[in-house]
Amino acid sequence: MKRIIIAIDGPAASGKSTAAKHLARKLRYLYLDTGAMYRACALAAKRSEIDIDDEDALKVLMENIQVTIQYSEQGNITLLDSQDVSVAIREPEISLLASAISAKAVVRTKMVELQREMSKMGGVILDGRDIGTVVFPQAELKFFMIAPVETRAKRRFLELQDKGLNPIYEDVLHEMKERDKADSSRALAPLVPASDAIQIDNGQLSIEAQVAELYRHYQKRMAEL
Ligand code: C5P
Repeated sequence: MKRIIIAIDGPAASGKSTAAKHLARKLRYLYLDTGAMYRACALAAKRSEIDIDDEDALKVLMENIQVTIQYSEQGNITLLDSQDVSVAIREPEISLLASAISAKAVVRTKMVELQREMSKMGGVILDGRDIGTVVFPQAELKFFMIAPVETRAKRRFLELQDKGLNPIYEDVLHEMKERDKADSSRALAPLVPASDAIQIDNGQLSIEAQVAELYRHYQKRMAEL
C-alpha cells in the first residue's frame, strides 16, 4: 500500500502531537515532531548564549547544529548534538525562545531541509505550523487542528505537571496567547491552514474520537489515490 505524507498543523497544544502519535502507531508510520526541532534550536542558542538577532552568530550555530529525532517504542527522543534534550526543550522559557528563533530564515531553511530529508521514504506524519503550506505543500493528506486557547492552555499545564515541572496556569495561558500571536503574524511561514487542509476542532473530542476521525479521512483519501 502507498505510504503517504500526512501533515498536521495547528497552534500550540492543539492536540496535534497526541493525535499524530496515535495515528502513526495505528498506521505504522514514522512520527516527526517538528516543533521539537525548533525547540532544540532554541535550547542550543540559549546554551551558547548567542543573541538570536545576531545574524552571523545564528548562521554559525545553524551550520554546526545537529538535531535528530530518534524513534523508540517509548516515544521519540530529541537529540541535540547527540545529547537527549527531550525534557529540557519543554520548559516554558524554551517555548517562547523557539517561537522567536523559528521566525528566522536561516533556522527555517535548515530545519525544513532536515524535515524533508527525514521524510523522503514516505509513511510519515509530521506535525507543526507550516507542514501543509511550506514543508510538504504536496502532502496527500493535511489536517489543521484547532481548540479554544483556554482548553489548550489547560492541556499544556497538565502536560508540564506530568513531566514533573511546576507550572502556573495563568503563565501558561499568557505564554500560549503570546505564541499564537507571534506564530500567526510572522512574515515567514506563518501559522495558517493550507487551502486543502481538513479542519478539526478537537475542543470537545476525546483522543479516541480524534484518532477515529483522522483515520476515517485517511481511509477516504487512500481510496482516492
Ligand atoms: O509545536 P511546538 O509548540 O512544540 O513548537 C514550538 C515553536 O516552534 C512554535 O511556537 C513555533 O513558533 C515553532 N514551530 C514552527 N514551525 C513548525 C513547528 C514549530 O515555527 N513546523
